[in-house]
Amino acid sequence: AVYVKGARKSFSGREVLHDVSLSIARGEVVSVIGPSGAGKSTLLRCLTLLDTFDAGELYYGSLRVTEQDENGRASYSKEASAKARMQFGIVFQNYNLFPHFTVMRNVCDAPIAVQGRDPDKVKAEAKQILERLGLAEHAEKVPNQLSGGQQQRVAIARALAMHPKVLYFDEATSALDPRLTADMRRIIRELAADGMAIGIVTHEMGFARDVSDRVAFLLDGRIVEEGPAEEVMDHPTDARVREFLATAE
Ligand code: ATP
Ligand code: MG
Repeated sequence: AVYVKGARKSFSGREVLHDVSLSIARGEVVSVIGPSGAGKSTLLRCLTLLDTFDAGELYYGSLRVTEQDENGRASYSKEASAKARMQFGIVFQNYNLFPHFTVMRNVCDAPIAVQGRDPDKVKAEAKQILERLGLAEHAEKVPNQLSGGQQQRVAIARALAMHPKVLYFDEATSALDPRLTADMRRIIRELAADGMAIGIVTHEMGFARDVSDRVAFLLDGRIVEEGPAEEVMDHPTDARVREFLATAE
């Protein structure tokens, strides 16, 4: 559902992503892990069009977002970017909820205002989504009346209301206790079972191992190891990955 090939990104002449290629298929959960400064957030920002790769190809499904000039520099097509934005959702680390909107309005706002969908249908569907995420009784509260874990589920509900094909999580569980982390794992696996492609950026190795089909280990802007979660996490072949995982426990 999302595919990036040969991606590069520099800040003030310093390259922080070097030739990164990654794909997430329908129904697949892929986590990007790696030490601080490796380039995880930069990769996520460029995938979600909050920033742009300098070179490389980015596709959402068959939609090609990037255009190449004769020197191989990438630019993002405006038209394709607008279409691509309809295809993915992001659950931000700080949730980014509207503080003065109720939960219901947080969930319904973009589908109605941005996607122009029928308000009654959007609201009916939002009720189902809130129910599914265990938030039905909180629909008329504002975010600061909810716990951190509940606010995170509102952020997920808001993303789901947009019908994304790809859902990204930035540090999905860093603020959650073990039980909520287990809930989050279950929710993510259910969404994947429904056919969504899930991309996760995380510091939490245990969570990445438990939730992911595949893990990509990013180090100094390069994917140095990638494969099935247990393989990469339990039997890494790269010495630097072994060292990082040994100290990360
Ligand atoms: P963390 O785990 O600490 O969140 P990360 O893997 O998300 O780290 P990034 O935030 O992607 O790392 O940063 C990758 C590199 O790019 C770092 O060296 C960082 O200093 C640099 N960088 C990121 N954003 C910018 C920016 N806007 N301007 C200049 N340099 C940047
Ligand atoms: Mg980061």
